[in-house]
Amino acid sequence: MPRVFVALGSNLGDREAHLLQGACDICDVAGCSDLVSSSIFQTAPMGPQDQPDYLNSVCAFECGLEPHVLLGELQAIELKHGRVKNTKRWSARPLDLDILLYGTSQIASVDLTIPHIGIAQRSFVLWPLAELDSELDVPGLGGVQALMVDCERFGIQRYRTGPGESVQDAK
Ligand code: ATP
Ligand code: CA
Ligand code: CA
Repeated sequence: MPRVFVALGSNLGDREAHLLQGACDICDVAGCSDLVSSSIFQTAPMGPQDQPDYLNSVCAFECGLEPHVLLGELQAIELKHGRVKNTKRWSARPLDLDILLYGTSQIASVDLTIPHIGIAQRSFVLWPLAELDSELDVPGLGGVQALMVDCERFGIQRYRTGPGESVQDAK
């Protein structure tokens, strides 16, 4: 089964609860198993700045679902968390789930691009990704550590390291 990496983001409501419950919801999808989660990072918003900071993390799991089926499952979880469609790009949301990597696949369909289109430009994705697998290769783009070197680190700080540990404010 391919190993899948999904980015989780939240900047509305109880942000941490949305991330933690969102990962549990993925665990509960039939065909998804052995899920592990990264630390949580706090990040300044992309795009419109008149919105709260984000919490971001990445989870990895074994996936027996086809990529488009998985996308549908993730979108159902977003809706369950109160996500509403907004025409304004990168507007505030309780939960955003993006498929970063699906094994070694490269996909370019009208509604699904894998690796995720923003992966190399987003420090809030690369940091937790590298935490889960520092040797990870991003198909078509290269190793995650090299991508981190080239990625501008904007407005990101560690928020929580692993389950049950106290909130960190150190960068
Ligand atoms: P961004 O994709 O730049 O992070 P966003 O997450 O705010 O922006 P959404 O409104 O959540 O964008 O999603 C827009 C569309 O992106 C979805 O309807 C989905 O079809 C498409 N999409 C393409 N590739 C992916 C992917 N790898 N993971 C999730 N959605 C994707
Ligand atoms: Ca996104
Ligand atoms: Ca999304």
